[in-house]
Amino acid sequence: MPKNPTVSAKQSEPSVKLSTRGVARLQARHPWVYRSDIIEEKNVPPGAIVRVHDQRGKFLGTALYSSSSQIAIRMISHGSVADLPALVTERIRAAIAYRKDNDLVANTDAYRVVFSEADFLPGLIVDRYNDVVTVQILTQAMDAPAVRETIVRTLREELQPAGIVERVEPRIREIEHLPPLPSSLLYGDKSSTVIGMNGIRFHYDGLEGQKTGAFLDQRENYGAAAQYAHGEALDAFCYQGGFALHLAAKCSSVTGVDSSRPALEMAEKNAALNLTPNGRELEWIEGNAFDLLREYAAANRRYDTIVLDPPAFAKTKRDLEKALGGYKELNLRAMKMLRLGGILVTCSCSFHVSAADFLKVVADAAQDAHKTLRLVENRGTARDHPTLLNVPETSYLKCLILVVSD
Ligand code: SAH
Repeated sequence: MPKNPTVSAKQSEPSVKLSTRGVARLQARHPWVYRSDIIEEKNVPPGAIVRVHDQRGKFLGTALYSSSSQIAIRMISHGSVADLPALVTERIRAAIAYRKDNDLVANTDAYRVVFSEADFLPGLIVDRYNDVVTVQILTQAMDAPAVRETIVRTLREELQPAGIVERVEPRIREIEHLPPLPSSLLYGDKSSTVIGMNGIRFHYDGLEGQKTGAFLDQRENYGAAAQYAHGEALDAFCYQGGFALHLAAKCSSVTGVDSSRPALEMAEKNAALNLTPNGRELEWIEGNAFDLLREYAAANRRYDTIVLDPPAFAKTKRDLEKALGGYKELNLRAMKMLRLGGILVTCSCSFHVSAADFLKVVADAAQDAHKTLRLVENRGTARDHPTLLNVPETSYLKCLILVVSD
């Protein structure tokens, strides 16, 4: 009797069995299971699409497997997946529709189109910058040639960009045991453009800059900060002017400070895109924000609006105490320099610093500064960076807007 092809295919399909702890993670709606919770593997090559079972063999769903990362599997479906490229196309379309249907990306032509796990596409990040689209591929399964092809084709069809750029994070490719690859154009001929958000324009170059070259996660916080900003403003970690240029529309003067000269050069170019000569002062200062805040405080400088958006101080859990100390010092100095009625916009993008930790550290700073602060807004990432309720890793950005009183 000829073998039933479906049954034999099923039997040879890559599969894993999870420990009770691994199963509990999935039941808690977290998509990741660590290698230590995989108790059995069958026919599992790097980057495989695996069927996931509990200890007794009960089918739990389908996941993307990594042979090298500590995160051994990332769930992609609670059912079976026959064709990963087809599913990727469907999920990219759904991510685009989610943003459109919920009206999450009005007032901008730059936004996150796909946010990895939060859009049910683990290991894929897609950003749109007007007519340039960037792609980051972060897992073995997403790096498969058929999946890459599908990603590019779907983005071309859905977004009609003039260029699609792959931005490579070399460290992630190392962790995933993927061969090194330069950042490059995957489609078209355009990798730089001008974007507009909240009516402010910025240059964008997909093959330059930190992270994805712009901080899209702060987009709505820029708008919120501008709503309260007034008087003399200081943006202490200004990068290419994201907050500073939004504040400039409302404030009499803005000082942007950053330790990176190339970032400030871009900030200057961005300023030229927006500002008409209207008597507002805008200055960019290259330096260490910690030292400058100390100097300015000693010189009795005063501001009406201060933005603090430092880089992630806690890259790992072990850095937490030190990171909290850094946040406290910065916030304390800023509070002392703010006039009554002044606005403090204070951010943390360290995942290891929880929203509660951050509120506490800012509250402690207020106590030491002998100031009473009102919390006007307690914010996070822009809504095009969705947060999965049971997946803390999808929520990392904290942005508090406070008004100082005595
Ligand atoms: N607010 C910016 C993003 C800031 S990212 C935006 O929304 O676009 C953090 C910035 O801090 C980076 O530009 C980095 O160059 C700068 N930076 C890091 N350490 C610094 C320091 N000690 N002093 C001043 N700037 C610093």
